[in-house]
Amino acid sequence: MPVDNSRLKGFFRLSVEERRKIVAELTGLSSEHVDALANYGELDELSANRMIENVIGTMSLPIGVATNFLIDGVQYIIPYCIEEASVVAAASNMAKRCLVGGGFSTNCDDSIMISQVQILDLIDLESAEQAILAAKHELIDMCNSLPSTMIRLGGGCKDIQTRIIDSESGKMLVLHLLVDTRDAMGANAVNTMAELVSDRVEEISSGRVHLKILSNLAAHRLARASAIFTPEELSDDGARDDGVKIIDGILEAYHFATADPYRATTHNKGIMNAISAIALACGQDWRAIEAGCHAWASQSNGVYTSMTQWSKDEEGNLVGNIEIPLAVGIVGGASKVHPAARANIEILGVKSAKELAGIMAAAGLAQNLGAMRALATKGIQDGHMKLHAKNMAVSAGAVDDEIGIVAERVKAQLGPITQQLVVEVLAALRSE
Ligand code: NAD
Repeated sequence: MPVDNSRLKGFFRLSVEERRKIVAELTGLSSEHVDALANYGELDELSANRMIENVIGTMSLPIGVATNFLIDGVQYIIPYCIEEASVVAAASNMAKRCLVGGGFSTNCDDSIMISQVQILDLIDLESAEQAILAAKHELIDMCNSLPSTMIRLGGGCKDIQTRIIDSESGKMLVLHLLVDTRDAMGANAVNTMAELVSDRVEEISSGRVHLKILSNLAAHRLARASAIFTPEELSDDGARDDGVKIIDGILEAYHFATADPYRATTHNKGIMNAISAIALACGQDWRAIEAGCHAWASQSNGVYTSMTQWSKDEEGNLVGNIEIPLAVGIVGGASKVHPAARANIEILGVKSAKELAGIMAAAGLAQNLGAMRALATKGIQDGHMKLHAKNMAVSAGAVDDEIGIVAERVKAQLGPITQQLVVEVLAALRSE
């Protein structure tokens, strides 16, 4: 559930068990959910074998919580499932820096998904298109005749649009069924509808229906988040001059991303560090989300660009916005069957798919700022490699207490942290 205070000072210094206890107390987690988080390798054989085919085992990743998030006036502790060091720390750090401006504001569309029906072998595409549009209500009623909780709750097919596309296979007519999937991601629901209407679509259009499948470019299901950061908050010591320089540096970094797809790809990868990590933690189809977000980033003029927009307001504050398609659900998929995903959704306390989408968009914006701020100041390697030092110690062969000692000694050295350095520090420790 949303918490009274997401600031959790000194949280990172606690043991894993102490942190879990605090999050459980703050969010009112049930013992079943606490156990799911505490049970490393939390998927039992039976559950894993039910989820996919040819199961031979499971693989775990850490879940960490990002703190300090104030979104639409509500405090959230946000679970991330990710293998990369420094992502959770950067998000928490940036979320803290917009608290003065009221945190993040979000605005998300209804859960409208697109299901595509491809019609081929048409002699007169325009007549077929008119015939389909004339039969729109019949087709919508057919979709909504399915026995479904989603439809009972007010969801279901709301509209049908048509597009004529020229392709290497010739011209084709494509229907878009626009379906409100409420609190579900909706892939299965909308695929079922597309298959249901296909015979009737062939009769009406006198064509041949080929593919019947959702589009992961969920262009009617956009999630938006925005936040304002003062120069003082962006400076580590609260100095306005320093903050102004940091904002200018961030804008130069942002303009690089808007002008260059090579930079935009890495810039957007940083955004997806948050979005995919939360998606994974909450049992979402993160491949669907990744595909949709990256495609959306090329939508405005066909050139791949930044998923975020940054500018300076009249008072010199940094203003950030993000708008991305987020097809997420809190019913269906793995969100209801994976024990750790259920616990993570409970930690967030979200009551709708829209609320989850808004949180993910806000976290993506914070993550983007974290990367740009680091790049525009001292570079990302300093912080990143320090957090990565323990992994490097393990790669070098350190065990037990050696891991912490090697990591600390490596961090205390001047100059870049390299694997060679880690190997040498471990060797020196062992020879003491
Ligand atoms: P789902 O098949 O479990 O359907 C959701 C069910 O929940 C429906 O039966 C619905 O009636 C019911 N429901 C109960 N309460 C509801 C509420 N409040 N709002 C909405 N529905 C409610 O899940 P889904 O979301 O249709 O499908 C998601 C799964 O489909 C994911 O696992 C995804 O990986 C997979 N998938 C993805 C793709 C793709 O992205 N290209 C393609 C096929 C399948």
